[in-house]
Amino acid sequence: MASEAKASPRRYPMYINGEFVESADKKYFPVVDPSTEEVMAEVPEANETDVNRAVAAAKAAFDSGAWPQTTAQDRGRILFRLAERIRKEAPHLAELEARNSGKPIVEAEYDINDAATCFEYYGGMATKILGQVNPVPDNALSLSLREPIGVAAQIIPWNYPLLMAAWKLAPAIAAGCTCILKPAEQTPLTALEFASYLADAGLPAGVVNIITGFGETCGAPLVKHPDVDKVAFTGSAEVGKAIMRAAADTVKRVTLELGGKSPNIFFADADFESAIDGALFGVFINQGEVCSAGSRILVEKSIYPKFVEAMSAKAKTIRLGPPLERETKMGPLVSKDQFDRVRSYQELGKKEGKVAAGGGRSASFKRGYYVEPTIFYDVDNTARIAQEEIFGPVAAVIPFADEAEALRIANATPYGLAAAVWSRDIFKAFRMVKALRAGIVWVNHMQPTYVEAPWGGYKQSGFGRELGPWGIEEYLETKQVHINLNEQPIGWY
Ligand code: NAP
Ligand code: MG
Repeated sequence: MASEAKASPRRYPMYINGEFVESADKKYFPVVDPSTEEVMAEVPEANETDVNRAVAAAKAAFDSGAWPQTTAQDRGRILFRLAERIRKEAPHLAELEARNSGKPIVEAEYDINDAATCFEYYGGMATKILGQVNPVPDNALSLSLREPIGVAAQIIPWNYPLLMAAWKLAPAIAAGCTCILKPAEQTPLTALEFASYLADAGLPAGVVNIITGFGETCGAPLVKHPDVDKVAFTGSAEVGKAIMRAAADTVKRVTLELGGKSPNIFFADADFESAIDGALFGVFINQGEVCSAGSRILVEKSIYPKFVEAMSAKAKTIRLGPPLERETKMGPLVSKDQFDRVRSYQELGKKEGKVAAGGGRSASFKRGYYVEPTIFYDVDNTARIAQEEIFGPVAAVIPFADEAEALRIANATPYGLAAAVWSRDIFKAFRMVKALRAGIVWVNHMQPTYVEAPWGGYKQSGFGRELGPWGIEEYLETKQVHINLNEQPIGWY
């Protein structure tokens, strides 16, 4: 009698048309805590029927009712209220984010703060979307009006769950679009919590719908739905390409952020201590599960041995631990799949390079998807570990002889999301900045990201830009209006 029944995991509903609902067939799937490998919650498994319901709600909210009547000021105020609510709930959201994704609580706190800041930024921008008068050579008033694109499908990954939701939702709401957000299957919880703030903030039903499910059965029908006008996607290159193909049938607007294999480049004249820290931070933050991770570390030959040694020595001191412990600097990977994937790259790395640090599962934990921060050196840039996105704490260190070689290696991948250059010679640093084929280039730093500045990739890292004024452009159409001022319009007949 004494044996205690284990509490069943909490079931979260999803959010369609202003209501908290189950999926049409009432199926749920488990959400796993990656530090314990235990089920921490269950969420609805949305299928095509639910997708159709959510798109119908978003389309109805776009076409009629209160939303198309809102002013820019109204939309701005809604965004400010959402930001305020996120700040109020921040301790709870950060804890939930850390538990669900595995990231250290301190990093989760930054993420939640950044999500609130994103809503504030676009709250301010709602009233700064400007049209223009075009100087046409006629007695006419020619205008360009900016209008919302319509219904936006927003598909996001698991590495920054609420922050990625904010990057997508905030500009879309400011622009006057309506949305269907699909969080990653691994990390849907903070987005579902956030759903409960929407009505209180004054958002009419159907403007934002949040549905949980799998890529194949929920994401894919969303992308091909004819009433979806735009798809905003962040995730793997493989899925991004499939989305682009699927969107072609109905000529949807598409923006893609597909990660990379970003070079972090160290010249011999860089400040050595900062360089070592910058190399570690660039690749190991958020367990290396970062689209802009500096996963190729290019080091000038004259400092190469010393650099590899110092970086590896320090990597071995990085404190792995449970996400909720404040001293933790690196948590578990997000899922068993990701763990297996990263482990296989660690094994591959032993064939393609030499191990300077790590290389396996962390021996300190019996449970949880913990892997050691891993550094391979003497890696050739053509090796798979130097070309393929690993999305885990695995670095490939590559030596270079001079500036020209650094540049050649840096640009030699299909990706072009980010890059960083470390040097005290501003001429050299600026030459590199100009020649690097990447959407984001840091000098003497790597990873700081600001809502005011554009984010997105060159080459196969995708297209379109998020954040700043660029982010809102992606949710706007341009309408040309010609107002004739002649009593007699021009005509031939
Ligand atoms: P993913 O499959 O690209 O997932 C990203 C999002 O797309 C998820 O919401 C996913 O749903 C959804 N999705 C999957 N297939 C889809 C389809 N056919 N149509 C529409 N949506 C679809 O990425 P992943 O499997 O989670 O991770 C695999 C690898 O992708 C990582 O190891 C990493 O290399 C890369 N990645 C990159 C980023 C980035 O920020 N650039 C982020 C995450 C992952 P599910 O959650 O059900 O899969
Ligand atoms: Mg997936």
